[in-house]
Amino acid sequence: MKGLVHIYTGNGKGKTTAAVGLGLRAWGRGMKVLMVQFLKGMESGELIAIRKLGDGFHVNPGIYMGKFTWNMNEKELAQAASLQKQQFEYAKNEIMTGKWDLLILDEIMAAITAGMIPLEDVLAFIKGRPDKLEIVMTGRNAPDILIEAADYVSNIQEVKHPLKKGVAARRGIED
Ligand code: ATP
Ligand code: MG
Repeated sequence: MKGLVHIYTGNGKGKTTAAVGLGLRAWGRGMKVLMVQFLKGMESGELIAIRKLGDGFHVNPGIYMGKFTWNMNEKELAQAASLQKQQFEYAKNEIMTGKWDLLILDEIMAAITAGMIPLEDVLAFIKGRPDKLEIVMTGRNAPDILIEAADYVSNIQEVKHPLKKGVAARRGIED
């Protein structure tokens, strides 16, 4: 089976959870799933769940920098950029082992938008992937060039979000 490329983008809630849901479905069918996260690294409920699934579903959460990119100084930004590049290199090396059937690049769009991972490198990565590898990418503002290269693109648009009413992030729902 030839692997296809998915994108979950848009400003609404549900991109990462959709990607994890697809990963869970694939895992259930015996596929080997790898999720690599960008610009994140905070503990989240799905990471706790995935660790219980054994070797067939692995997450590399990256390293949490403790703040958003827009609050970082130049030195912190350079450090964050280097960490994102490391995550991308990790994903590249892992897929070349042929061990994985589904790769989730969570929040890769944010790393691209922040100029930390070159768009051309991501495009080359997709084009040069092993034939059977299915790839899922998430994050707001997916660049047109990736949308063109993908097979499934879902734009999750916010209609309502309780944060707008002042409801803070809730355990197990937002994290
Ligand atoms: P989730 O992880 O819940 O599937 P997501 O991956 O679509 O959400 P991100 O853009 O990665 O959303 O943002 C991560 C966090 O921001 C999550 O806690 C999510 O619930 C929250 N969030 C998502 N969309 C919105 C929004 N439109 N307004 C405010 N917060 C949001
Ligand atoms: Mg997300």
